Amino acid sequence: MSALTEKLLNSNLKTLTPYESARRLFSGGTDWLNANESPFCNDIEVALTDYNRYPDCQPKGLINAYANYAQVQADKVLATRGADEGIELLIRTFCEYQRDSILICPPTYGMYKISAQTCGINTVEVPLNADFSLDVAAITAVENVNIVFLCSPNNPTGTLLNEEDVVQVLTHFSNKALVVLDEAYIEFSTQQNWAAMLDKFPNLVVLRTLSKAFALAGLRCGFTLANPDIIQSLLKTIAPYPVSAPVAQIAQRALSDEGITLMRQQVAYLTAEQNRVREALSGHAGVNLKGGNAANFILFQYTYRTQLMQHLVDNGMLIRDQSKQVGLADCLRMTIGSRSQNDRFLSLLDQYLNDTGDVA
Ligand SMILES: *Cc1c(COP(=O)(O)O)cnc(C)c1O
Repeated sequence: MSALTEKLLNSNLKTLTPYESARRLFSGGTDWLNANESPFCNDIEVALTDYNRYPDCQPKGLINAYANYAQVQADKVLATRGADEGIELLIRTFCEYQRDSILICPPTYGMYKISAQTCGINTVEVPLNADFSLDVAAITAVENVNIVFLCSPNNPTGTLLNEEDVVQVLTHFSNKALVVLDEAYIEFSTQQNWAAMLDKFPNLVVLRTLSKAFALAGLRCGFTLANPDIIQSLLKTIAPYPVSAPVAQIAQRALSDEGITLMRQQVAYLTAEQNRVREALSGHAGVNLKGGNAANFILFQYTYRTQLMQHLVDNGMLIRDQSKQVGLADCLRMTIGSRSQNDRFLSLLDQYLNDTGDVA
């Protein structure tokens, strides 16, 4: 670091390690089962007109399409540059620099804490219980937090939060804090949908994305669903043109009846594949499945995870090490890919277990 950047860099960034995205960790590889992306690359079309004009801040067609899909009123929908931008906007809008705190429940998605750190906001951590349920008593004992981030289905555990637990948290913080339900993987689960509860809980915020089930991680399009006063507050912070014209067009097409039908077919395929891979993994002694199947990935524990990861990486197969997270010692997370990718993963695993003599 030069003397100038050293002198000028915000003090809260001096010790910050940026989010280790799957793309930052590995650039090579042939099979990317490390970022919970979809294996489907769907056809995309864009009109090539009107690019001399700025887009709408919140393109109406897109907002209406998502409102219709999520079954909420349009004034409860904010379109953002991925759900990640929604996380950051919430923190920037509702937490004060070097004074306020957010609450998170690890093991969970890494960006809540990193966004808080980049904004100079403190993070209070209340770990999930051993079965990955919420520790409601410990959460509600925490004073003075502005935002509680919950994730259901949770990344990287693939588990759903218990509905009554979430209601207790929402109720406890009703006049104290926003409770954010990150539903990035909601399409893979049939059970819960917190967007339907916005009328009941004024402090509820729901995060959604087109990056996972809709197979559009490269697009960078997400949605924040909340009551209109919260949406209006977020509009004070958001950039003037956060959704570029081609993004709005492609996203709106993905949210058409045709697009939604295609998404549901692909989710059904990935669910069947997940069942198949889980079945195969459960036959291996030494490999312990962890968490649940409510998303598009499998979390498992394996004592020699470093060696196994190396074997996979050497063969171009990238999955994600989650072992640094609290409660996830020796855990790896594998995204469900295409049938052939999943087969390749299973055969590389077999090969490793056979070679090392650690066979079922
Ligand atoms: C992938 C993911 C996101 C980020 O989604 P983007 O829309 O791609 O920014 C948010 N939350 C969770 C839990 C995720 O796994």
